[in-house]
Amino acid sequence: MLWLPLGPFHAMENQMLVIRIKIPNSGAVDWTVHSGPQLLFRDVLDVIGQVLPEATTTAFEYEDEDGDRITVRSDEEMKAMLSYYYSTVMEQQVNGQLIEPLLIFPRACKPPGERNIHGLKVNTRAGPSQHSGPAVSDSLPSNSLKKSSAELKKILANGQMNEQDIRYRDTLGHGNGGTVYKAYHVPSGKILAVKVILLDITLELQKQIMSELEILYKCDSSYIIGFYGAFFVENRISICTEFMDGGSLDVYRKIPEHVLGRIAVAVVKGLTYLWSLKILHRDVKPSNMLVNTRGQVKLCDFGVSTQLVNSIAKTYVGTNAYMAPERISGEQYGIHSDVWSLGISFMELALGRFPYPQIQKNQGSLMPLQLLQCIVDEDSPVLPVGEFSEPFVHFITQCMRKQPKERPAPEELMQSHIGEHVLEAV
Ligand code: ATP
Ligand code: MG
Repeated sequence: MLWLPLGPFHAMENQMLVIRIKIPNSGAVDWTVHSGPQLLFRDVLDVIGQVLPEATTTAFEYEDEDGDRITVRSDEEMKAMLSYYYSTVMEQQVNGQLIEPLLIFPRACKPPGERNIHGLKVNTRAGPSQHSGPAVSDSLPSNSLKKSSAELKKILANGQMNEQDIRYRDTLGHGNGGTVYKAYHVPSGKILAVKVILLDITLELQKQIMSELEILYKCDSSYIIGFYGAFFVENRISICTEFMDGGSLDVYRKIPEHVLGRIAVAVVKGLTYLWSLKILHRDVKPSNMLVNTRGQVKLCDFGVSTQLVNSIAKTYVGTNAYMAPERISGEQYGIHSDVWSLGISFMELALGRFPYPQIQKNQGSLMPLQLLQCIVDEDSPVLPVGEFSEPFVHFITQCMRKQPKERPAPEELMQSHIGEHVLEAV
């Protein structure tokens, strides 16, 4: 056991702090931090990640005076732990005792539970880190830590967004993966839509998500939601995108065919753009089609980060009702599956109700898998010809062919009659 002689307690908070990281079924590693009170939760996870590179640690614990374990998983809880620790240090000093290090117990991540298979989402780019890396004693390989902190900072410093500059206003909606807020970005004066998703994942996975989202640097289309940046704070990612003042199409109920045709053209153009970048949307549905009062239609929540999709799917169990039959059956997913979702979304918007009457969507679009079996088993629904034009009915029917290969390919979609017809009109 290591005992540290430290200075008088009034100077305590400016002095070094020794954190003893307990290694499960083994010894412990001491980490000397030179600026204890400034220490952030992320710093500690970062160091634990170096001490236990094989484990996926998302939180840690300390013991209170009764020996009860208290979990720390945020900066707030870190502060509580440090203030508790400093009070015990003062007591030890007053009593003339030697100062004990702060003992923490890394907590391994829970094994992934049952997963749903629906794909998601997200437009992102990194935001700046709010802290510098911790100083480390020679009980840890300090070079490797410095390198990793520098690397981390670089990854997290790519964007222009950070939590301090954002003022959250109204809640725009809740989805299966998170909550979307209307927010004000102070430095630019811009109104944003910020999607906040809680994710209990390691720093390693956070980094992986950030790098997977790099592709969004390349996304530049007027049919795709504008992306401003993203950042992780503690166990949540915030994704900042363009605010669309018309909201999403799911709230509009029945939309007349001539308007839907124009919207379909924008959506098809957005999808073909994504496909050209080898991105499958994976979550085409009315709530992911946004409109604004400038008459623009843009797609959002497409799956550019496999790791993000998987991390969200671990938390939310269910199957997306807009998924193609082959996807409901667990078969391979491709462009054709996005085309099905396009067809069923537009059929819903045309009818003003979900096309399968036996499927009652309540809140959101995730359903138990069994309830969606009729999409696999039954013939696809067809729009009533009398109510809609023949080209529109044909367009939807083609998109909703049960056999994926029979659905229109991207170039055919663009040339389809409704496409041509509306392309001229737009
Ligand atoms: P899921 O989580 O399955 O994708 P969802 O699309 O309904 O479901 P979110 O993506 O979390 O859920 O979005 C919630 C709501 O927030 C949307 O229905 C939409 O109305 C609103 N919203 C999302 N992004 C924006 C935006 N950029 N501008 C304006 N409103 C938005
Ligand atoms: Mg969405």
